[in-house]
Amino acid sequence: MSANANSYVITPPAQAAIAVAGTDKMFPVRRIWCVGRNYEEHIREMGHDVRDPPFFFSKPADAIVADGGNVPYPPLTKDMHHEVELVVALKSGGRNIPFDKALDCIYGYGVGIDLTRRDLQIASRDMKRPWEIGKAFDASAPCGPLQPAGKIGHPSKGRIALKANGKLRQEGDLTQMIWNVPEVIGKLSEMVALAAGDIIMTGTPSGVAATVPGDKLECEIEGVGRLTVAIGPPEPPSLHSPR
Ligand code: MN
Repeated sequence: MSANANSYVITPPAQAAIAVAGTDKMFPVRRIWCVGRNYEEHIREMGHDVRDPPFFFSKPADAIVADGGNVPYPPLTKDMHHEVELVVALKSGGRNIPFDKALDCIYGYGVGIDLTRRDLQIASRDMKRPWEIGKAFDASAPCGPLQPAGKIGHPSKGRIALKANGKLRQEGDLTQMIWNVPEVIGKLSEMVALAAGDIIMTGTPSGVAATVPGDKLECEIEGVGRLTVAIGPPEPPSLHSPR
């Protein structure tokens, strides 16, 4: 559905976007999908069976936080966790994408953090309720600049790590992903139609832990790039005009 600017009854919201490394161009974000449980060590640390098939959840596109940005500590949680993840950005999509065609859909790759209100996620899980309140909150998707696949290729191995205040918290390798990138795209496209502008956070290695106001999170994926964000104090309560 489309309309010209004059036909909207309010000003349309800004297009969410991620910087493209080494350029002044932006990648516009349509949807953010995330893979649950895609590294064995993280599945074990959360107490689940590694043989479970992967599943997906989503975040709103405007949850993106740029490299160098600030994440206000979100409300209602006492246990926000960092999950460093390889981000895949799509330039095309479709339904039932065969694994051997999936790489053709990829624009590029970046480093992201799936920030998680772990206490609320677990409470929702235990009550068999949806995960949005634990996963899809404001500023929950920091994402570093994208590197085009045309420049770096399609990384299937390489160190993925996160440091908090200079101390190593998470470390793994992309080879440890249970479902590789083509399989993630193929499986997800069986459930929903994928399209240009979609990004996928592909799961986190072990070492997830709490992060608090004042923390500096530095992430790196070998061959892909870096992401640094600061966790800030909570935003002041307001009766209207959030963010
Ligand atoms: Mn995650």
